[in-house]
Amino acid sequence: MKIMFKKVSGIFILSFCFLYQVSFSGVRGDKEFESFKDYYIESLWQLYPDYALSVGYHKYDSILVVPDDARRKWQLELLNSLLDSLSNYKGASLTKNNLTDLWMIRDQVNSDIWSLTEFKSYKWNPSNYNVGGSFAELLNSQYAPLDIRLRTMNSRFKKVHEYYEAAKKNIDKPTLEHTELAVIQSKGALSVFGESFMDSVNVSGLTKAEKAEIAKGISMAKESISGYINYLEVILKNTKETEWRSYRLGKELYDQKFKYDIVSEYTAEQIYEKAVRRKVELHSKMAEYARKLWPKYMGNQPIPGEDKTAIRQVIDKISLNHVHRDSFMISIENQIPELVKFVTEHELIFLDPEKPLVVRQTPGYMEGSGAGASISSPGPYDKYGNTYYNVSPLTGYTPEEAESYLREYNHYILQILNIHEAIPGHYTQLVYSNNSPSLIKSILGNGAMVEGWAVYSELMMLENGYGNNEEEMWLMYYKWHLRSVCNTILDYSVHVLEMPEKVAIKFLTEEAFQQEAEASGKWRRVKLSQVQLTSYFTGFSEIYDLRTDVMNKEGDDFSLRKFHEQFLSYGSAPVKYIKKLMLQEEN
Ligand code: ZN
Ligand code: ZN
Repeated sequence: MKIMFKKVSGIFILSFCFLYQVSFSGVRGDKEFESFKDYYIESLWQLYPDYALSVGYHKYDSILVVPDDARRKWQLELLNSLLDSLSNYKGASLTKNNLTDLWMIRDQVNSDIWSLTEFKSYKWNPSNYNVGGSFAELLNSQYAPLDIRLRTMNSRFKKVHEYYEAAKKNIDKPTLEHTELAVIQSKGALSVFGESFMDSVNVSGLTKAEKAEIAKGISMAKESISGYINYLEVILKNTKETEWRSYRLGKELYDQKFKYDIVSEYTAEQIYEKAVRRKVELHSKMAEYARKLWPKYMGNQPIPGEDKTAIRQVIDKISLNHVHRDSFMISIENQIPELVKFVTEHELIFLDPEKPLVVRQTPGYMEGSGAGASISSPGPYDKYGNTYYNVSPLTGYTPEEAESYLREYNHYILQILNIHEAIPGHYTQLVYSNNSPSLIKSILGNGAMVEGWAVYSELMMLENGYGNNEEEMWLMYYKWHLRSVCNTILDYSVHVLEMPEKVAIKFLTEEAFQQEAEASGKWRRVKLSQVQLTSYFTGFSEIYDLRTDVMNKEGDDFSLRKFHEQFLSYGSAPVKYIKKLMLQEEN
């Protein structure tokens, strides 16, 4: 049964179902649901042991799942039985925390079933298969002594051959792009089994026999991976251009993936149309600021007739205002207390002083991910671990690379980046999320809500006077914001509307004011991923719309601070569920 909440408040519909349920199967409440959640999480880790390993749950580390038909059949049976159990809670009287958990579990199970039965990327995406990541994780993470980790790996090695045999059998009409990616990533996996692996084995306390067994496992793994690479290279060589599956998802699959991944009140098409309108709006605002700023930056030079040309020229000039590469890190560090001060003085949201953010240089093993700044949060099983703001030290950059990077993250954009990543963006959201004690929400956290909050917080800060309403700040903000808007347009256009590469690059450079290198990187990303690029703007739009609804409803009683604190108190749930709960509470 589909529960519709559109017009009527959620509680009414739910209590109706509740009565219906009582007469048939009795009431199930929070107590039963708590144990069901435990059961669900345990099932989740059995379904996806590698995922468990990556979040720090180590019970199933020794299992390497062979991705064959039998396995998929077993997965599907388990998922369907979970769905059955979930139906017992339809309309049960649950706390809000549990109610959102219930909705999120149901969505996830449906999404997993869809993935197996409709999306079927196990057939067309050869980069799904790679044992390198989990072995590297086991080798490098310190959760247990080396000897234990090596013995765990030893049982995994025994399945590597079968794993790749099943992978080869699964592949059926792949895309060219994912096949090429798989070759690159499999070559990367080979490096995991290089000399340093055996060095670790040699310094361990394993017996001679055990060491020999692992050595054999390593050489067999290398053989299997090389065999997989050869297999893919033969496909690359023999497949005619017309025989590849298209990287474009097409409308039907795209709409479904959007529904399952984003979990929004909007459809994919609606959010695309909204982004198109937003782009027009942003361009006209940017043109206005560019005209105002023109004399300051361009002197007596005549202003170009074409708005976009004028915008670009002013942006290029403003971007020259940036910190020196040696002070990149320190200037980020210095900005954090200023953001805290601004948020507190303007009563935007409570920031817990007990949980300060630690700014650090991006550790070596994380370098090369391309991101200049990122937040590292402790996993769901390590709640008390530190949260770090990783900042790239720019040490590996040539002078030209550093200059281009610093222009991109100029004086203005750097502040917006700090708002997005740290305060009151991702970091603040994370602190609130950890206070909402739900393992479900931290494991199944909704990406669109998380990114949407960070994107929303940028605009919210500027609306409240951050940056003193400087025209440069607004112009640069709009350029930054345009990126999420254009990501949405690009993703839908490429996957659903068949936008050709040339048009896409032109779109990104001319409409989103991106550099050639950024645009071609984005083109690559849009071919390999689907839907994810829309999460930023979708989440932003939903939060902004919700705020408008609450403002209209509360009128003079509206408090921005109260809105933010309440919004974040539900944890990383999809915005549409938070909306149900928030509007319901207002009644
Ligand atoms: Zn410079
Ligand atoms: Zn983000």
